[in-house]
Amino acid sequence: MFCQNCGKELPDNCIACQNCGAQINNVVDTGNVGWAFLGCCVPVAGLVLYFVWKDQKPNTAKKCIIGFFIYLVFCILYVIMIVLLSLMLEV
Ligand SMILES: [Zn+2]
Repeated sequence: MFCQNCGKELPDNCIACQNCGAQINNVVDTGNVGWAFLGCCVPVAGLVLYFVWKDQKPNTAKKCIIGFFIYLVFCILYVIMIVLLSLMLEV
């Protein structure tokens, strides 16, 4: 693997060139919807993966955080439903 900017040979699994500092853009960043699903089912993982990937894999990170927010919205809806139900039962 070689740097696309300066042509210097790079070690495997590095994210930026050690010579010129250019980002290595051979990372797989498909932004697969499956990551949103994961973020929804395992919100902690979605949140952690977002912060891990937000610079290297912005598309995938976005899907992770979307999943996390879907989970949050469902939590809020659930709480609102419980509150409304308890209010209705008290009357
Ligand atoms: Zn370079």
